[in-house]
Amino acid sequence: MKDSYRRRLSCLFLSSLLLLGSCFVSGCTKEDVSQTPESLAPTQAATRVPAKTPTKAPATSKPTAKPTVKPTAQTTANPTATPTKTGKKYFTMSFDDGTVQDKRIIQILKKYKVDCVTFFINTGLYGAKWSWVGESAGMPDVHTRLTEAEIRSGIYKGYDVAVHTLTHPSLIDCENDKVRVLKEVGNDATNIKSLTGIQPVGMAWPGVHPAYTKNLINTIVQGTTVRFARTTKDTSSYRLPAAFMEWHPTCSMSSSMLMPLAKRFLKRTDTEDTLFYVWGHGYELDLYDLWDEFEALIKMMSEADNIILVSNTEFYKLYKNKIPSVA
Ligand SMILES: [Zn+2]
Repeated sequence: MKDSYRRRLSCLFLSSLLLLGSCFVSGCTKEDVSQTPESLAPTQAATRVPAKTPTKAPATSKPTAKPTVKPTAQTTANPTATPTKTGKKYFTMSFDDGTVQDKRIIQILKKYKVDCVTFFINTGLYGAKWSWVGESAGMPDVHTRLTEAEIRSGIYKGYDVAVHTLTHPSLIDCENDKVRVLKEVGNDATNIKSLTGIQPVGMAWPGVHPAYTKNLINTIVQGTTVRFARTTKDTSSYRLPAAFMEWHPTCSMSSSMLMPLAKRFLKRTDTEDTLFYVWGHGYELDLYDLWDEFEALIKMMSEADNIILVSNTEFYKLYKNKIPSVA
């Protein structure tokens, strides 16, 4: 694990250098940034906790063992009052870009009989290989997208699929070109409907945060079926989004805080509803050797008796009357 972690830090360092290097060489145009997979932003430098197979909390009289029954004193306005309500706890994930690793991700999800993942794909980049993503780590094939034939064969059957634009451009660069924006978002949605039968109502903004503007949000909501859009701004919190078109996740799959945040979430006893949202890319699981950690996370969440597992779209549909799309 130590070797793996060192390698990951090394990869992050090299990736950051790569990103910075391309910025300096090219004058750092927004297009360059848009072609960067969202996770290459450095993750938080926190102490790493090795992935372990979690054990279920024993049913004891400790308040944290049965959070749905007895909230702790800190979460209650009046510690002496009898709590009457415990918030629902949701878990969801998403993976961007539609890379070949999505197949193995789905195998693991099927093993634990869960479908709480949304896949955001680019239907204008079938089979594309971004060799520069893993070159510095000696893995030039690591970021390779699924082909149209592979997707049409039903890889994502039973799972949520949503928009990541046709070709992963910087939408900020073309925000005044409404035709282009609506083509990137709307045509991706149309293609996904054709491929999977799903009419997408959500997307993940392509590129590193901030990858959108209020103008873009309005264009997309007014001109397409998209009503939620995930950002890459990690909050390290479990708060529900304030507006669905700026849906900030809790943390990324490659964050060193992933498992600590997951374990903390299981123990929480909030009175309001909470959400633990993990996002990432399939290729990161190969590049940073995160397969065991991913499986441990899925096992942990699937075995917890107080967590509701939902896809992004399922969560949106549950809360669309309580949370606005646009702030
Ligand atoms: Zn992406």
